[in-house]
Amino acid sequence: MKSKDGMKFSSTKIIQEGIKTEIDEVDIRHYLGYESEQCPRSEVVSLVDSQICQAYELIKPAAYYTIKPITSVGNPTISVDGLLFTSCKLARMFSGCSQAAIFVVTIGAALEKEVAQLTKEGLILKASVLDAAGSVAVEKVAAWLESMLRSLAAANGDKVSWRYSPGYCDWDITQQKELFRGLDGKPAEVNLTDTCLMVPRKSISGIMGMGKSCNTFSACRFCNRKSCPTRREEFIKWLRKE
Ligand code: SF4
Repeated sequence: MKSKDGMKFSSTKIIQEGIKTEIDEVDIRHYLGYESEQCPRSEVVSLVDSQICQAYELIKPAAYYTIKPITSVGNPTISVDGLLFTSCKLARMFSGCSQAAIFVVTIGAALEKEVAQLTKEGLILKASVLDAAGSVAVEKVAAWLESMLRSLAAANGDKVSWRYSPGYCDWDITQQKELFRGLDGKPAEVNLTDTCLMVPRKSISGIMGMGKSCNTFSACRFCNRKSCPTRREEFIKWLRKE
């Protein structure tokens, strides 16, 4: 099935091959709390190198996505092919979108099992560095999928919004259930806890809007929460609907 303006809708696609997940040591240092100009001791540098090698052996990147028509955008509810998502910020961002890409990416469970084992053995630094490598890897999988979806949309002349995850800003984490429902019961290897956290933890779920008139700025532009630690863009007052 196709949208009026040509984008193909799909059942859930599964990608397990060809995902680029380069684990950068500078990103790991960032997760470990080093400033960008700060150089760690040589023992830490070699530990980071060895844990990157171990991470590559343990991760199993996978991406799941589907593209669905946006049926209506109210305030605060967005209807996506029978799914209902509730968030004022998301509704504002998706007001010009005609499709939504819903996705989950993961690096699998093996890396965090090894982190748990190292922690049990008291090898806390090794465990922390491996855990950071896992965080970098799953972010790379999400960035890879985002870039692939952007190319897909661009080929159709569509713009793409920023990506948003349940639990972000005013989008309640319990909406993970609705998001997973949109993926037709997949992915089998990622489960939700009673509190809607994902297991394996090194997984990222989310949604991106697509369309000819899609907003391409982030919700932060019309949010004046001053102390937010995850702000992505400056607040611009004129964009805010009072
Ligand atoms: S400033 Fe913070 S709370 Fe506001 S939209 Fe951005 S990330 Fe969300």
